[in-house]
Amino acid sequence: MNRKAFLQQLAWLTAGTATAPSLIKILTSEGPFYKIRNNLGYFSMRGGTIGWMTTGESIVVVDSQYEETASEFLDGITTYGSGPSRVLFNTHHHGDHVSGNRAFANQSYRIIAHKNVPDLQRLQAEERGTLDEMELAETTFENQYSISAGDETVTAKYYGRAHTSGDSVIWFENANTAHMGDLIFNRLYPFIDRDGGASIAGWIELLETVAAEGDSDTVYIFGHGSPEFGVTGNREDLLYMRDFLSKLLEHTKSEIDEGKSREEIIQTTSFEQFPDHVSPSDFLSLPRNLDVAYRELKEDY
Ligand SMILES: [Zn+2]
Repeated sequence: MNRKAFLQQLAWLTAGTATAPSLIKILTSEGPFYKIRNNLGYFSMRGGTIGWMTTGESIVVVDSQYEETASEFLDGITTYGSGPSRVLFNTHHHGDHVSGNRAFANQSYRIIAHKNVPDLQRLQAEERGTLDEMELAETTFENQYSISAGDETVTAKYYGRAHTSGDSVIWFENANTAHMGDLIFNRLYPFIDRDGGASIAGWIELLETVAAEGDSDTVYIFGHGSPEFGVTGNREDLLYMRDFLSKLLEHTKSEIDEGKSREEIIQTTSFEQFPDHVSPSDFLSLPRNLDVAYRELKEDY
């Protein structure tokens, strides 16, 4: 991914409001559709990475970005397949992963998400005054939900609180590929949505479990990634992020134990063990992460 694409992908995070910046089509020779394996790939334009898979009869999509980019996606995916069975999974409720849902619903996609997602999405949309534009998942599940698509079995799994309290990993069994949603910010300081139910401790455990469920050949698709490291990777990338989150929590705990105040703790802007982490804005920065870690350790939730 080039730098311009990267900045556009992250534009929602820096905007801080529901007002989406106007869409500029990314004219690169390499996108926005990328193939991984078995007629499965990803689409990267603006917002969280979309995953897709087609068979003779089905299209399975993971996340919907924004209305405009969802339309671009829906136009382009016909090159790869146009099956009558159409399913959209939402990995979680954040605006850059679900704001294109309506465009998918209009093309008869069935939308599936963890049971906490619709309420979180409604709450977020009410705060932003965008409820009218939102389409919520009509099929929800508590622990896991599987569908068959051609020879492929696709399973959405919930592992507990992590980036939010409604994150799923979407596994494509035969293709040995998993879409992580925002459970991976690849070499970026992550958004940890504590108000949306996030738990750093839970997130660490999740990454360990999901890395163990894959093997050395598993491809993971990430919601966001730095320009250098991109939005796909392997289980080593999951364990690298686990190590970052462990460091975040341990560092904050030792600072608290030394008697430092919140204000002092959030002065640190980088860890020398993680030199490749990128901070595109204050919103995605180590001070923000430390602040959330501080709250998680101090508050009783
Ligand atoms: Zn998110």
